[in-house]
Amino acid sequence: MLNQESIWIKQGKKTNYQTLNQDISCDVLIVGGGICGLTSAYYLRDQIRNIALIEADTLAYGASGRSTGKITSQHGCIYSKLLKKHGKEKARAYYDANEEAITSIRAIVEEHEIDCGLCEKDSVVYCMSVDKTKEITDEMNALDELKIPYEIIREGELANVRLGIRFKHQAAFDPYRYCKGLAKLLKDSGVHIYEHSPAAAFEDHSVIVNNHKITYKQMILATQFPLTDPMHKYAVCMSPYQSALAAYDKAEPLKDQFISVDEPTRTLRTFNTENDTLQLAGGFEHRSGIDTVKMMRELMHCLDLQFHQEPLCMWTSQDYVSADYLPLIGELSAGVYFASAFNKWGNTNGTTAGKLLTALILKEKSIYADLFDPNRSTLFMNTKIINENLKTANEFITSKLMQTKQLLPEKDEACVTKLGTHPYGLYRSLDDEIYIVDLICPHMGCTLHFNNIEKTWDCPCHGSRFNIDGTIIKAPAVSSLSCEKIHWKTFTDSGNTIK
Ligand SMILES: Cc1cc2nc3c(=O)[nH]c(=O)nc-3n(C[C@H](O)[C@H](O)[C@H](O)COP(=O)(O)OP(=O)(O)OC[C@H]3O[C@@H](n4cnc5c(N)ncnc54)[C@H](O)[C@@H]3O)c2cc1C
Repeated sequence: MLNQESIWIKQGKKTNYQTLNQDISCDVLIVGGGICGLTSAYYLRDQIRNIALIEADTLAYGASGRSTGKITSQHGCIYSKLLKKHGKEKARAYYDANEEAITSIRAIVEEHEIDCGLCEKDSVVYCMSVDKTKEITDEMNALDELKIPYEIIREGELANVRLGIRFKHQAAFDPYRYCKGLAKLLKDSGVHIYEHSPAAAFEDHSVIVNNHKITYKQMILATQFPLTDPMHKYAVCMSPYQSALAAYDKAEPLKDQFISVDEPTRTLRTFNTENDTLQLAGGFEHRSGIDTVKMMRELMHCLDLQFHQEPLCMWTSQDYVSADYLPLIGELSAGVYFASAFNKWGNTNGTTAGKLLTALILKEKSIYADLFDPNRSTLFMNTKIINENLKTANEFITSKLMQTKQLLPEKDEACVTKLGTHPYGLYRSLDDEIYIVDLICPHMGCTLHFNNIEKTWDCPCHGSRFNIDGTIIKAPAVSSLSCEKIHWKTFTDSGNTIK
């Protein structure tokens, strides 16, 4: 049972802001209404008079409303990697930026009395298997070198933990309520918010949205992936990863929140509702568009063993990981800024991005500008990620040349077929309608894969996603797939040879 909505979205009420239906102009245009876009608007609102924020769907309906809601500077075993790749000063600066972000979120919630269940929680990264203990000890050594405070958790101290590291005084919240709270105060401050208003085409200092033109002086792309990247340089140094989460009721409250470094990775936390304690469990990260079914099977198997009960809901989410483990926050081209690759830790990294982008737009100095500079050289030097991306690209070239076996899809299933060498996806609905979509992703021309769990067409290269009728649900693509709908009987009666 997979829901399109997270527990946060399911429990909350969706926002209902106006849709753009006229030409407008603004000083700063923010594209994307997740935590990054909303936080950027928050910090800019007192400095810039005319801000517009456009969201393709409803606010925080993307990754921000689907996260685990942890607010922490402990990002798995990131510090040993950062120390090795970037040295002591930068690794420590990453910690400081994230600790500052925790303080900022607390301050925003307190000052504006945002009702989002914010609470203090310690964070634990741990391993269950023996062969992962080295990863944890390496992380401890890095933390010692960086003078980052932590506690050791030894075997027997906590159930299932062989070795772990605890960061004290971290936090957690309901990310959806937080984003909605931010949006409300932005609206009250005069920020113009538009929902169901996707940026569909980019021109010089203007964007086409719902067939109307927004003219801007400066623009922030808070869309998880830079939508205007003419050289496609970020397509090689960022990769999309997907994970799944499930929510259970009647849980025992846990003092800590957990992430494991085992394979597959696991994440766990509890949170209190009015009458109950709910538990969030999941993880099982995998490269988007590849192995989704395998991941879901493994996840369901593990969750069944652990919880012996049906989850209240289950959902997936996606985030980008950069080649050198640091987010990308900065200027993309003159007057266009972006923030991406929060490496699955966007509550703090997205908050840092909001503050840093504000500083850059206001031409103020920030000690974090160099650290997150999207033009830094280290970004283009990780052969593992870049090779992975090139391998995916190769796979597509090969798949384009191969003749796909022509299959007859069962109900609620899909198959791929070709007209010449051009791939098309056929999805057969429960009521026997066939949806035929062009499988070439409008973003960069990769071939889409069918995600049989969520019934979507997903791009394994850069993470764009489409409904079975071709409508876009996830950037970086900005347009939908062409789609023909035809009844199954008409389709087969017309002598179609696809069998
Ligand atoms: C399973 C999972 C669990 C996670 N848990 C945590 C956690 O516990 N703590 C943590 O810190 N991080 C967590 N993360 C990471 C976090 O969810 C993300 O890093 C963060 O939400 C990204 O925020 P964002 O604003 O950049 O993106 P989003 O929230 O995705 O916002 C981008 C918005 O841009 C919109 N958009 C895209 N294209 C267009 C367009 N053309 N026009 C207009 N709008 C557009 C989208 O609709 C979307 O709403 C988790 C990630 C995953 C996958």
